[in-house]
Amino acid sequence: MIESSGDVIAFPANETMTKEEASPFLVFGAPLIEQAEIDEVIDCLHSGWLGTGPKVAKFEQDFATYKGVDQAVALNSCTAALHLSLIAAGIGHGDEVITTPLTFCATINAIIHTGATPVLADVDPITMNIDPAQVEAKITPKTKAILPVHFAGRPCDMDGLMAIAQRYDLLIIEDCAHAIETQYKGRPAGTMGDFGCFSFYVTKNVATGEGGMVIARNEEQAARIKTLALHGLSRDAWKRFSDEGYKHYHVTEAGFKCNMMDLQAAIGLHQLARVEENWTKRESLWAFYQEALADLPITKPAQPDANTKHGLHLYTILIDERVAGISRDAFLDSMNRKRIGTGVHYLSIPEHPYYQDRFDWEPHEFPNANRIGSQTVSLPFSAKVTQAEATRVVDAVRQFVASPVQHKRAA
Ligand SMILES: *Cc1c(COP(=O)(O)O)cnc(C)c1O
Repeated sequence: MIESSGDVIAFPANETMTKEEASPFLVFGAPLIEQAEIDEVIDCLHSGWLGTGPKVAKFEQDFATYKGVDQAVALNSCTAALHLSLIAAGIGHGDEVITTPLTFCATINAIIHTGATPVLADVDPITMNIDPAQVEAKITPKTKAILPVHFAGRPCDMDGLMAIAQRYDLLIIEDCAHAIETQYKGRPAGTMGDFGCFSFYVTKNVATGEGGMVIARNEEQAARIKTLALHGLSRDAWKRFSDEGYKHYHVTEAGFKCNMMDLQAAIGLHQLARVEENWTKRESLWAFYQEALADLPITKPAQPDANTKHGLHLYTILIDERVAGISRDAFLDSMNRKRIGTGVHYLSIPEHPYYQDRFDWEPHEFPNANRIGSQTVSLPFSAKVTQAEATRVVDAVRQFVASPVQHKRAA
């Protein structure tokens, strides 16, 4: 949380607007961009080298150093990181990959696009992370991998998942889209499984607009991902236009187009340098929300487990209409009328018609994810949120949710 905000998107007021309607819209998940990012982007534009180049190489090195690993491969999204990891893992037609119903659709689509079949295992109702016991119940002879998501930045039960992976000889691909800073028993998220996939989408803890990164435990697989991300061209083909002189490249397989640009890395370099500073800002915002909403009849996020570091990506509350006196969707509308942006992370995956049609999934088969999906609201929670904005959020929540007194009477 910071003391003062920079620019906010403000729409011109007109006479029929109330004071609230005319107040600036608090954009959900707006990244905190500072002068260093702006200068580096301008430097990149002046350099004439906008595509994959030295800034991407430096960003990869900085990210690997931050994670305490030898190598990281920058991509244009976490979706690509998941997709290419699955391909590099040799997963395809006839295989099954077990993942969570409480995730962004990209997690599921990445599995589908390899030709493999996604299989869902319900989440723990408190941690909102995939439940190892549910995973084990879904294993078949076709299961090849587990794809856990460290939801909201809270690490999954990796001991439980890794024990299962070992017992059944499965790979683990960690979806770390929420979990850049996350640690589990001293081990950074993304370094415990065979692959770790990160997102630098605008709302994520490190933002490059669009962007992603992958860590692979196996060096050959990392090299394969790099090749797959650039059309399947032989190694370091991006250097073909550099001052080292033109070099022929060869197509070694039919790849994709998922490389990161220097323009994106220019932003990421400085975002990453401030990743812990921004985490600390969100930590104080988390504490502020926890205390300011403590007496309300809503469910606040569970406190982090001992011996872990929560990535603090989302601050989610659960609104149960029977006790809160307002439905989740009416609450979303009310917040919007106060010009406060909110998010829903997520309607459970089986709620979407495509997956229902294709896999015959029913929301009620995953009761924990289904209930969370119907009650959850993410409040504004980026490092850019000021004290005044946080107070505005709390005042609005307190106005719309039943007061603690009403709640006690009803109980
Ligand atoms: C954001 C997100 C993704 C996709 O990330 P992109 O970089 O936008 O492709 C995947 N999984 C989860 C859990 C996410 O939140």
